Amino acid sequence: MGKVFVFDAAKCNGCRNCQIACKDEHVDNDWSPIARPQPDTGHFWCRIEERVRGQVPKVRVSYVMHRCQHCENAPCMAAAPEAVYRREDGLVIVDPEKAAGRRDLVEACPYGAIFWNEELAIPQKCTGCAHLVDAGEAPHCVDVCPHGALRFGDEEDLAEEIAASEALVPERAGADRPRVRYLNLPRRFLAGVVVDPEADEVVPGARVTAENLATGEVLAAEADEFGDFWFHQVGAAGWRVYAEAEGYLTRVLEASTVDEDRNMGPIELYRAEA
Ligand code: SF4
Ligand code: SF4
Repeated sequence: MGKVFVFDAAKCNGCRNCQIACKDEHVDNDWSPIARPQPDTGHFWCRIEERVRGQVPKVRVSYVMHRCQHCENAPCMAAAPEAVYRREDGLVIVDPEKAAGRRDLVEACPYGAIFWNEELAIPQKCTGCAHLVDAGEAPHCVDVCPHGALRFGDEEDLAEEIAASEALVPERAGADRPRVRYLNLPRRFLAGVVVDPEADEVVPGARVTAENLATGEVLAAEADEFGDFWFHQVGAAGWRVYAEAEGYLTRVLEASTVDEDRNMGPIELYRAEA
């Protein structure tokens, strides 16, 4: 049993306290033998990626953390077993002395988590603030997160979160076995607004049904008081969308979330003949 990080995308508001805390902890601070100082610029041992999704006016912003995944089967360790080691608690450390001059390690990490320190001529990355962990404290990034979006602890204490979690790069998870786990990673959304063009009004309460053309999955939503409907966290797929309301002819349209989130825009409903 070792330590794990759990990042919950549903709780992260992109404040970047974690990113700044990493600088605060490591720039100009020498935590040898675990880490030498991080340079002032160019390194992101902990980085929040901002994803702007959808099309105006239906847009959502999501935040995803990128950092060393402290892999159980670390490709960086395989590339330089004499210079990279895993501690008993699972944290993977690039030894600043033994890895001196090993610029090739930057390419050895499939997650882009290793950076080159030009001045010291060493590869560097997140240490999980092992120097703080050894003192019984949390990594600085975890300590400053105001929303509980980033947690760190023993696997057994976070077992529930781990069971519900996924990997940042699922296709690599089996091989690398990352110790950074993710909750609520953004999927796609499918949205739109139901309108009555003849009355020049929206249609609150319209029923919208979306059928996944690949799996047959059927989702249902109701237009709110602004005529808006949303399907959140749906798959990347083609969809057949039915919009219906009392006294109107049903509209059937197709939409795709294969490449990106989709704002279908206005779906026009016309009154059925009396
Ligand atoms: S994420 Fe990259 S640097 Fe971190 S342990 Fe895995 S391979 Fe090594
Ligand atoms: S400190 Fe927490 S809420 Fe802020 S960006 Fe980092 S993980 Fe997200």
